[in-house]
Amino acid sequence: MEKSFLEATQLSSFLEKLRLFGELHGPTVTDAGVATFAPITAPSQLRINYRRTQIPPKKYLLPFREQLLSYRDGRYAEPAEAQPPIVLFALHPCDLAGIAYLDLVFLGDNTDPGYAARRARLTLVGISCEPDDFCFCSAPDSAANCDAFLTAVESGYLFSAVTARGEEIAAAAADLFSAADVPQPVAAQHPGTGVAPQDPELRFSDNPLWQKFADTCVSCGACSVCCPTCYCFDVREYPALDGGGVRIREWDNCFFATHGEVAGANFRPTRLDRLRYRFLHKYCGFTPLQGTTSCVGCGRCKAVCPVGIDLRELFSAARGEMSP
Ligand code: SF4
Ligand code: SF4
Repeated sequence: MEKSFLEATQLSSFLEKLRLFGELHGPTVTDAGVATFAPITAPSQLRINYRRTQIPPKKYLLPFREQLLSYRDGRYAEPAEAQPPIVLFALHPCDLAGIAYLDLVFLGDNTDPGYAARRARLTLVGISCEPDDFCFCSAPDSAANCDAFLTAVESGYLFSAVTARGEEIAAAAADLFSAADVPQPVAAQHPGTGVAPQDPELRFSDNPLWQKFADTCVSCGACSVCCPTCYCFDVREYPALDGGGVRIREWDNCFFATHGEVAGANFRPTRLDRLRYRFLHKYCGFTPLQGTTSCVGCGRCKAVCPVGIDLRELFSAARGEMSP
């Protein structure tokens, strides 16, 4: 893959080029100090050296709450949602892998039309990241699953076009790339455990650490909300007295007691049931279905957990590296 060098001093001009392809969104920080993906109207808003946002980019594809249809007089109508193009800039490889996983689910055999429309409007520009102690992804500098990718090097970035859209970006920004010798990227230092959760040798379904975790888990659901591949949803209808109504879809959460309720019974009534179900489902349940793990190692679940539950303890224990 051919790479071009973009000096750091050209970054603001590069952002202007990206605006040719849609509304520019990227990592920024709210007034409350929360890292988030949001519209970038001025380069000063961009926090390109961020570690992770609290809510992953799945919010662009699966809104927290959306109206699926409205009905009245025996007819229904789907909302005519305008889908302006968006350039999502500075996505880390783990979040790109998260979107690729959602694509498998929502663009597969039963394509979800709302997801497909929202996905079609996105241009994805990735960037290499410097993993911190929460991360355990396998490739912090992978240029997969995006249209274009920037690899951070000394005094700038190496730009790679991945798709035809990436080539268009390269052409639009050609005057910004330097003819100077291309610096070599610095290999990402990975401070995490390096334990891949998709490792088929991991056997942890009966590990006593589940009970230890459940003793402190408060079932807040934050780890699921912040997970880039968690997509459980609920569909509800709200009828009106005049005979019309709406059907909505909203995020659900397998840590909530109501998630396991079916016809008056609850299949996962305890915190232990729900915690174990969530992570076993993620590491062992989805892999045979989709051919890939649904954990991308972003570390958000550890970063947001109010009681500090760290699944890497489980991986290590399952490998006999520490006793529970
Ligand atoms: S399970 Fe945790 S580390 Fe894995 S993708 Fe979800 S939030 Fe990230
Ligand atoms: S974030 Fe922590 S306390 Fe909250 S549900 Fe997840 S594991 Fe439990």
